[in-house]
Amino acid sequence: MNIHNNNFTSLLIFFFFFLFSSSTTAFPNFFPNISSIPPSFLPNHTTNPWDTFNKLSGCRSGQKVDGIAKLKTYFHYFGYLANTTGNFSDDFDDALEAAVKNYQKNFNLNTTGELDTSTVNQILKPRCGVPDIVNGTTTMNSGKTTSFQHSVAHYSFFPGTPRWPSRRRDLTYAFDPRNELSEDVKRVFANAFSRWSEWTPLTFTNISDYSSADMKIGFYSGDHGDDEPFDGVLGTLAHAFAPPTGLLHLDNAETWIINDVFTSGSSSSTAMDLESVAVHEIGHLLGLGHSSVENAIMYPTIASGVKKVELDRDDVEGIQVLYGTNPENNGTVGPSFGEREMSGVARGSIGLVWGVILAVGLTIFVY
Ligand SMILES: [Zn+2]
Ligand SMILES: [Zn+2]
Repeated sequence: MNIHNNNFTSLLIFFFFFLFSSSTTAFPNFFPNISSIPPSFLPNHTTNPWDTFNKLSGCRSGQKVDGIAKLKTYFHYFGYLANTTGNFSDDFDDALEAAVKNYQKNFNLNTTGELDTSTVNQILKPRCGVPDIVNGTTTMNSGKTTSFQHSVAHYSFFPGTPRWPSRRRDLTYAFDPRNELSEDVKRVFANAFSRWSEWTPLTFTNISDYSSADMKIGFYSGDHGDDEPFDGVLGTLAHAFAPPTGLLHLDNAETWIINDVFTSGSSSSTAMDLESVAVHEIGHLLGLGHSSVENAIMYPTIASGVKKVELDRDDVEGIQVLYGTNPENNGTVGPSFGEREMSGVARGSIGLVWGVILAVGLTIFVY
């Protein structure tokens, strides 16, 4: 009888453990597109954890305003502010002003050191949880000599430039089985990986053995065991760790869109494009840090309702510093960029030709 009771207790403990662990991992919210999100789902998903920063608009050095301490926590989290005292005050001090200036440099804003509207709007945007400044160093704009900002590369690496070793070019990835992801969701990640393999000698293969995969992908809620808790809807969306750690975590609380097409006006939604975030986080898995180039995949923020999955020249140049070029891509730096730029020139030429024809036609008409 005792044995049965013990077994029953063990079963109960296991059951509650299973309940608890599955509640932090399973069943992220996926929708094929914006219009498929049920209206009843949306009212619960409108709170941005950083909305309170709105009231700090206009704050500057020397002021003491309720909420500044929380803003300091934000800047500390993303690497802009050291925490020497253990807790932050609501004083807008010199250290915060310096943090705001570095933030403004990294996001190509006017370096005022004040919380002007454009700075606050940038701070509110959903973003990657990986810090912009790691261990006090960065090669984003704030780590560069300003006079060269517009002539040098903007991509960055983690301190020590970690990368997958040269004998490892065929890498594997797996999904946390507790998430029970559909084939449609897995295909989004396959597409995201292919954006990087197109330009490098790296290949990526999805395997089912989660424990042995080089890169492990999972959706989690709140605190999930790596001291980088997720914060609910918007705020931080995902984070990933540099080689050879290979962990890619996404926030379960987001409303993830897995198929195309964002319609106009959808930007007010809280829906996030999964592939856009996946391509960015894979960049971290491969060793890239954040970039100050707004078009780059490795730019830290992305608006809701935006699909951004094409690598920018800045991303390609950065990843090729780490791994070289794709030998199947003629070994050159960015042939497709050449084609894209060529087709852009071709379109421009066609526009010019039409312009000339129109001008000639108008001239004939006038006379
Ligand atoms: Zn990132
Ligand atoms: Zn994590």
